[in-house]
Amino acid sequence: MAHLRCISGCDGVHDVFQPLFSCPTCGGLVDVAHDLAPLQQHAAEDWRARIAARAISPSPIDQSGVWAFREWVMPGLRDDEIVTLGEGRTPLLDVPHLQKSLGAGRVQLKQCGQSLTGSFKDLGMTVLVSMASAMKGRGADVRALVCASTGDTSAALAAYGARVGLPVIVLLPAGKISSAQLVQPVSAQAHVLALDGDFDACMKVVQEVCRLPGMFLANSKNPLRLEGQKTVAFEIAAQRGFAVPDFVLVPSGNLGNVAALASGFSLLRDLGLTDRVPRLVACQVDAANPLFRSYENGLQALEAVTAQPTHASAIRIGDPVSYPRAQRALRETDGLVTSVSETDLLATMVEADAHGLFVCPHTAAALAGTKALSDLGQLQKDTELVVVSTAHGLKFSPQKTAFHDGGSELDGMDIPPELAARRNPPEALAADTAIVRSRIEALLA
Ligand SMILES: *Cc1c(COP(=O)(O)O)cnc(C)c1O
Ligand SMILES: [Zn+2]
Repeated sequence: MAHLRCISGCDGVHDVFQPLFSCPTCGGLVDVAHDLAPLQQHAAEDWRARIAARAISPSPIDQSGVWAFREWVMPGLRDDEIVTLGEGRTPLLDVPHLQKSLGAGRVQLKQCGQSLTGSFKDLGMTVLVSMASAMKGRGADVRALVCASTGDTSAALAAYGARVGLPVIVLLPAGKISSAQLVQPVSAQAHVLALDGDFDACMKVVQEVCRLPGMFLANSKNPLRLEGQKTVAFEIAAQRGFAVPDFVLVPSGNLGNVAALASGFSLLRDLGLTDRVPRLVACQVDAANPLFRSYENGLQALEAVTAQPTHASAIRIGDPVSYPRAQRALRETDGLVTSVSETDLLATMVEADAHGLFVCPHTAAALAGTKALSDLGQLQKDTELVVVSTAHGLKFSPQKTAFHDGGSELDGMDIPPELAARRNPPEALAADTAIVRSRIEALLA
């Protein structure tokens, strides 16, 4: 019903219930391919009714926003093999301030960061860890779950690994992860190894390490992750009554998520639940934009870059592993790529926060991507956009604190005066009612 298929040209097909992280024939990327025929035997109406019923079911598997779609995610997995921590089922919010300033029809924010470990990575890890543990249960050699991470991947892997009792090994770039992120794998008792290199260096090492028997690769090179992440497309569609938006924007680094969204929206269309796919927009930052550069050259090839420091630390990636997947996703959905400056990112984050959203810097990069689309003349007054928020703002508090305290997370970044004017540090006052009352009067005057 589902198997692994090489997407790098050799078309090899392999059992999905074996630890396999690249094509054994040509070394290329493998993806999970689903047998559509049995799924297409159900009418779109039946699927909608089944999904609606699960939303009010008492079963923890039905309540998971990933496993509510289990027939489309991993049909061969038994219910008792599923490792869930209540992932998914996140809000889809309207963003009126941006809708107004863009002059667009509708702008919505899919809050994937409202999750156990605070990022969309939980959606992929529930599938990957369920599968790793199921393979082990079925006799495969699985000694440890291993990942390289800019922070969020390790937090999610450590939580699901701890839940099911599998050892977790995390390779992090030393000094490049916020303490709010580092504390997550540390608390979950993962083995955290801080390497003296950047994320791309960690990624190289982890791929070598995972050639050893028993080492289960948990980065999004492993396509099992993408099967969980594609449920974001299902939720967005369901939350909009299966009316597809014109654009879906997603902050993009290693490029697994943009590919997952394309595969989710394509499946919905193939099953007759929607009539088309949205145009996907991969949103990058100028400090780390190899996909944007490739896009400007017609998506022919990838030239790796050395990623520079950015507020959006989770997408500080210069040599994205899933580039071939992103190439396909953008071609299939008539997609676009944006790249924004740190100043635009920061200004957009400050603006969104001032409207009560408290977005993470990556989400700000994608929100700023809507303005880039507008500048390209892509938006009309009825255009509908959904921006995927990938993490919770609280995980990236140091960046926000630095701004409001009058500095910048990035040394030497110059902040324009109109942006600096939005700094809002706490004010010290005497614990005296008269003084406080007169200060409040002055503030509200
Ligand atoms: C992982 C991550 C991304 C990038 O996703 P890719 O699949 O690597 O493109 C973006 N934002 C956040 C917060 C992340 O954790
Ligand atoms: Zn191959």
